Amino acid sequence: MTRSILLAVIVSALLLACGSDDTARITLDDQGRETPTFSSESAFEFIEKQLAFGPRVPGTPEHVSAKNWKVEQLRAFSGGQVFVQEFSRTVYGNDLDMFNIIAAFNPQATDRVLLAAHWDTRPRADEEGDPEKAEKPIMGADDGASGVAVLLELARIMSENPPPIGVDILLFDGEDYGKTQDLQYYFMGARYWTENPPVANYQPRFGILLDMVGAEGATFPKERYSLDYAGGVVEQIWNIAAELGYDNFFINQTGQYVLDDHWIVNTQSDIRMLNIINHRTNGRSGIFANHWHTHKDDIDIISKETLQAVGDVVTEVIYNRLK
Ligand SMILES: [Zn+2]
Repeated sequence: MTRSILLAVIVSALLLACGSDDTARITLDDQGRETPTFSSESAFEFIEKQLAFGPRVPGTPEHVSAKNWKVEQLRAFSGGQVFVQEFSRTVYGNDLDMFNIIAAFNPQATDRVLLAAHWDTRPRADEEGDPEKAEKPIMGADDGASGVAVLLELARIMSENPPPIGVDILLFDGEDYGKTQDLQYYFMGARYWTENPPVANYQPRFGILLDMVGAEGATFPKERYSLDYAGGVVEQIWNIAAELGYDNFFINQTGQYVLDDHWIVNTQSDIRMLNIINHRTNGRSGIFANHWHTHKDDIDIISKETLQAVGDVVTEVIYNRLK
């Protein structure tokens, strides 16, 4: 993801013209169903397993190996309902093969929810002061692996507990390749997916994007594109988080405009997607956590408490809040 300054102003102006939060009619009421247990232990292991491949930078063998592993995991959990959407781009002189990975749970259900995260990691550590360190790819324990890990744990849960609605897990590639402010090379997987929808007329009720959901002390204020496009669902999910005792993570404050895969989905498709992303309401000391786009983004900054909070909230939404 990247900071959004000028674009936020332009997009906000467009929003005023078309006003497109059609999630206000969705209600996430307690259905009195039992919600299976999300294991942050298991999610943590899914982070470790991704890190064992090394940085997952498009165009590298580590990226391909990590992709194969994720596909295998999702195939096993979904009973084979996996589609890999392959595409290629040449970026900064590098030929990149990229892969969006999609897994369907309860595939017959027409009523569906989309859960997404990016699985690639950044080829450089822009926020390192030392230029030599800045050229090296980051491990991306939080920025990449954490969102995937929560979704893999949910996939594991769904393999044992069929969800009451259809759930699609979508792992975007090529989110974090662009150099700072070079937006055309960010969100490449999300762009490709919206331009080449694998299923015609795909219309889930809404989408949830998870990005940087694993760090100790994370805060998830209500990200502003999420409020603009899916505010009805955002407010309810943050209320659910508070009911579960997680209002220290899901803080009841308006956050920043963060450009991320959900911005592409919201502006280039009819699907409404919110983003649960660790950031600060006040950008004076940077919008993102100190480890963002540095080599500190490794296993040491990951917290099982944060993974548990995010996992519990999403599991509750999926299993107990949709009629
Ligand atoms: Zn990033």
